[in-house]
Amino acid sequence: RSITRGITVELPKETWDDIGGLKELKKKLQQAVEWPIKHANAFARLGISPVRGVLLHGPPGCSKTTLAKAAAHAAQASFFSLSGAELYSKYVGEGESLLRRTFQKARLASPSIIFFDEADAIAPKRGDGGSGSNTKVGERLLSTLLTEMDGLELATGIVVLAATNRPQAIDPALMRPGRFDMVLYVPPPDSESRYEILKVHTRQMKLGEDVDLQSIAESTDLFTGADLKGLCREAGIIALREDRSASRILGRHFQTARDSLRPSLTISNIE
Ligand code: ATP
Repeated sequence: RSITRGITVELPKETWDDIGGLKELKKKLQQAVEWPIKHANAFARLGISPVRGVLLHGPPGCSKTTLAKAAAHAAQASFFSLSGAELYSKYVGEGESLLRRTFQKARLASPSIIFFDEADAIAPKRGDGGSGSNTKVGERLLSTLLTEMDGLELATGIVVLAATNRPQAIDPALMRPGRFDMVLYVPPPDSESRYEILKVHTRQMKLGEDVDLQSIAESTDLFTGADLKGLCREAGIIALREDRSASRILGRHFQTARDSLRPSLTISNIE
């Protein structure tokens, strides 16, 4: 059987500039992920041991996946993506096989970034949730992951990134040194970040002069980055619905879009 079966690899196009706000966080990721790959020789020369794994946690739709992709783009690394939930739902043994083959392929394609979405599904706290065979599936996946991560010790140019909305559900064994030794919170955007995100998503749009992104940012409390992207698209569609030959998207189109949308976040989402 081909070792590449079920494995998807890409060279992401997303850049750091496609992510609004999160300045400090981007800097940390650059140093932890981009530098060890781009400057592997200098790390070796100075004896700096690179971070093996970074855990990103925070509410959905706030750019965890995009950050991982931007890091891969910046480091010109192959990007392997695995979903914890998907691994978990596979037939007995298939999830572990896919996990092992992905690490194998990532070594061959290095530099590489392996990204786990919904990491809490693959590494739930042992003895937590699930029952009977389900728990066994989780434990086998987790021990495979730990073995693979420990095996990275000698490999260079491979960084594992994982994302979760539920960090408290993750097995603490993953946080040992040499595993996910960097844990970063990706917060929902504040007003200033929302302004930056709106700028990103209107970059390609023709806006009327009356569009005030600052005030839209102020009136979109609890909107995620994904919500704001949707708002910009909706404003464009409203403009087009009104006039198929429209040449600008106007302030009132954004206002109507804003009024028709509800934020995804609630106070309780925020850690
Ligand atoms: P999930 O937990 O649901 O997987 P996520 O945190 O990984 O979500 P992404 O998939 O990276 O979030 O983001 C969803 C969409 O929202 C993307 O299309 C992205 O462009 C947009 N987005 C989110 N945050 C930002 C941001 N800070 N700047 C620009 N776009 C953003």
